[in-house]
Amino acid sequence: MLETLRQIVLEVSETTDLHQALDIILRRVRQALGVDVCSVYLSDYDLRRHVLMATSGLNPSAVGTVSLEFEQGVVGMVATRGEPVNLDDAPSHPAYKYIPGSGEEPYHAFLGVPVIHQRKVLGVLVVQQREERRFSDDDVSFMLTLAAQIAGAISHAEASGRLANQSGPAGGGERAFDGLPGAPGVGVGQALVVFPAADLRAVPDKLAVDVGDELAAFERALGEVRAEIEHARAELLQGAPEADALFEAYRLLLSGEGIELDTVARIRAGSWAPGALRAVIEEHAKVFSNMEDAYLRERAEDIRDLGARVLLRLRADERGAPDYPAATVLVGAELSAADILQVPRERLVGIISGRGSANSHVAILARALGVPAVMGVDGLSAGKLEGKELIVDGYRGRLYVDPGVALKREYLRLEREEQELVADLQGLRDQPPVTRDGRHVGLYVNTALISDVEPALRSGTEGVGLYRSEIPFLVRDGFPSEDEQFKNYRQILKAFHPRPVVMRTLDIGGDKPLPYFNWEEDNPFLGWRGVRVALDHPELFRVQLRAMLRADVGLGNMRLLFPMVSGRAELAEVVQLIDATTEELIASGLEVRRPPLGAMIEVPSAIYEIKGMAELVDFFSVGTNDLTQYLLAVDRNNPRVAKLFDPLHPAVLHALQQITTSAHAVGRPVTVCGEMAGEPAAALLLLGMGLDGFSMNVASLPRIKWLVRSFAYSEAVEILNQALGCGSSATVLDIAHEAIEAHGLGGLIRAGR
Ligand code: PEP
Ligand code: MG
Repeated sequence: MLETLRQIVLEVSETTDLHQALDIILRRVRQALGVDVCSVYLSDYDLRRHVLMATSGLNPSAVGTVSLEFEQGVVGMVATRGEPVNLDDAPSHPAYKYIPGSGEEPYHAFLGVPVIHQRKVLGVLVVQQREERRFSDDDVSFMLTLAAQIAGAISHAEASGRLANQSGPAGGGERAFDGLPGAPGVGVGQALVVFPAADLRAVPDKLAVDVGDELAAFERALGEVRAEIEHARAELLQGAPEADALFEAYRLLLSGEGIELDTVARIRAGSWAPGALRAVIEEHAKVFSNMEDAYLRERAEDIRDLGARVLLRLRADERGAPDYPAATVLVGAELSAADILQVPRERLVGIISGRGSANSHVAILARALGVPAVMGVDGLSAGKLEGKELIVDGYRGRLYVDPGVALKREYLRLEREEQELVADLQGLRDQPPVTRDGRHVGLYVNTALISDVEPALRSGTEGVGLYRSEIPFLVRDGFPSEDEQFKNYRQILKAFHPRPVVMRTLDIGGDKPLPYFNWEEDNPFLGWRGVRVALDHPELFRVQLRAMLRADVGLGNMRLLFPMVSGRAELAEVVQLIDATTEELIASGLEVRRPPLGAMIEVPSAIYEIKGMAELVDFFSVGTNDLTQYLLAVDRNNPRVAKLFDPLHPAVLHALQQITTSAHAVGRPVTVCGEMAGEPAAALLLLGMGLDGFSMNVASLPRIKWLVRSFAYSEAVEILNQALGCGSSATVLDIAHEAIEAHGLGGLIRAGR
């Protein structure tokens, strides 16, 4: 059974089309369990019916037309209970309901399992047999495993309204996909798909611009791979003649007619070379992976490897940057910060990523750029979207493909209103961030790159609340020298002078590994991160400290901040290094000063050490991204648990309240520099907590200033007190959103004004 499961999963993973995948599953399950029928019902929550979505064994014309009421029949029983139902004679069960038109009259044995995605029943997977039969426990586990496998794909197809002849949820024929809100805003534009250089499966479908060019590029790439493999073979054979067998498959593939001729035929029919190659490699690999013989099955991997090699050569041939449409929606199964930074800013209107969540660094970058983003759209066939018209709704985490006229008109209107709102908020640039009853809160920006400086200065910020010094380290091939670092820091300090700049020392590790200083860990977020690395490598840390302290000479606007501090003892070691480095520089004749020092509160243990740490530092800054991750034990990057990553969780709010009270009790100011500070509902609660400052992405700053200026501090305190009494973050969010709408600031929390 395990082998059959493995086979099915493998076959299904090779298709990108849901209906094709279901056909494979239903057919294979029928064979494996020796049953007469295998079907999938989809639960339509609007119609409150389970609709037959695909079948192997029942009348095919019943698909999309036959349906059952929600609580009806044994299928309804499976869905309502959310549990398998195993009956040797279904018609004699009281819940049994005969469905006219399905052609299921003669079936007795029934096994149904629910298809569940993120706690929601999406449908029911059913097998039926003419004879009476009781399915074994193994059969039940087999079906449950398959149901779990298909749940993700069904969830997207359901959202898109592509199943069982339903129309799209927006009613205009467009398809919709749900992901996670990554960056607020809405955008309408054309998809441009980016994919890793050697990832064949991610290659989008595109028409050839010039068939002759595509043919020539393909033949050249194939020739190069042939030569490369022949060369490797010759070298290996010198030392190990018996290894020739290893090359057999490659030789067959490269000399054989199949792959080459098929690809050429597809290019001649109008496809671009990478798309033709992908389709042919998929076809050939599939033939092998369906084989019974384990050795031959493994040849499928050789074919894919060969395809990836040819693709790499083809891509090396591509010249220059892609032709970005005037309104580009960047789409990728897994986008990187570099992919985003490559698009001219004025052309980028939206970002769609198959992986990641709101807390991934790609989403943080999107927010910094003010570009709407939807993350974690899993099951998205990015390659199929190339060139299509898309709508990105970053508030709802939703993507529409090929929108109908009415929907597009509506979103273009919302987009225009958003732009007007942004323009209006520019008018607040020189207004102070003061509440209606006169309380000032510092509003600062988070930055990382020199290119952030201009927009930051235009936003009317009071300074930099978090400079992520590791980002320039991430986009290089090796550690920058002290002088290079010095120049970089000096540029930032000068640009914002006399405003304060909080420079955070290197925070590598976790999801920010340096490509040239890499290590393997089972739990990187609980491993070697932040000051832990710095303390273990004082030689690297002191280079950075020297560069920072030197950069501040004569300016005096730098403050130093330390990431991932767990408590007083660790902080004392860091401070010792600062003192030693400062003294060393003074001794060398430089007029450095010991800057104000700060500790990040992002490791939960630090909350209980604030009093002791206050003896060593001048301020605190709360990293709510990590603090939420560690308090709730939820990986900030994992889309599977993204719904649980919740900075409005009552526990997080109470922790933040405690941090503020403890810091103020010992006379230390405290700022929030996590993403929460830039989210209107959260910022309103933070305001009520009495935090001294918020540091956020540039795009959020004018919005949060509008919020601060629209509320009285006393109102924010009242709203916070209500929120602290709530048992769930959903209620907290309702309270905050209601207050925001009531103050006429609805444009901050949804599309439009
Ligand atoms: C945080 O953890 O909230 C934070 C500001 O730092 P980073 O996102 O860089 O980990
Ligand atoms: Mg952090």
